[in-house]
Amino acid sequence: MADTIFSKIIRRDIPADIVYEDDLCLAFRDIAPQAPVHILVIPKKTIPKLTDTTSEDHALMGHLLLKVKQVAEEAGLDNGYRVVINTGEDGGQTVDHLHIHILGGRQMQWPPG
Ligand code: AMP
Repeated sequence: MADTIFSKIIRRDIPADIVYEDDLCLAFRDIAPQAPVHILVIPKKTIPKLTDTTSEDHALMGHLLLKVKQVAEEAGLDNGYRVVINTGEDGGQTVDHLHIHILGGRQMQWPPG
């Protein structure tokens, strides 16, 4: 499976502003933030995209969402935030390692672009 920039961050081959880590996941600040708070939560397991998950990933996916909640709380996003998983070409995904965006600290608009 192709190595990605996020695999390199997990291995500490390249630096990142890490805000949370456990055995299953890593959370770090997006290098090109689209909101005052923009954090990515990623599984350590190499899963290219949401469509590649299987029933084997049931517990992992639940874990990731609960960590999204925890990381958002710790970032002080008391007034709400947006959670995004860009998936595949039409979804605008640019890094082929599953990641969950947490965006907050400003009023989000709808529909997204
Ligand atoms: P997506 O477009 O959903 O695939 O999101 C990929 C995200 O990864 C973008 O928001 C990028 O700004 C972010 N990104 C790319 N390289 C890095 C990096 N080295 N450190 C932190 N965030 C990154």
